[in-house]
Amino acid sequence: MSERITDALMKEARWQAQKLDREAKGNEDELATIRARLTEYKAKHRNDYLCPCCWMRSEQWSPLDPLPAGKDDVLICDVCGSDFLIER
Ligand SMILES: [Zn+2]
Repeated sequence: MSERITDALMKEARWQAQKLDREAKGNEDELATIRARLTEYKAKHRNDYLCPCCWMRSEQWSPLDPLPAGKDDVLICDVCGSDFLIER
């Protein structure tokens, strides 16, 4: 259960990194920062899942709130407003 969520958040972090890579348009410093952030990203700290968007964009650890949502899990970030659907 928790592995499914961390896997999905890691995947989201990699996807964010690809997006930021494109925005960096070959700027070596920015690309290095994005790579470093991606290796430092942790999907879970103690009991909190951490927002991959906030980390990749602003190097900020924002805990995600779980939302009760039928059969799938939804995690939402209060800081950037992103939500993550975790399919079962
Ligand atoms: Zn966020």
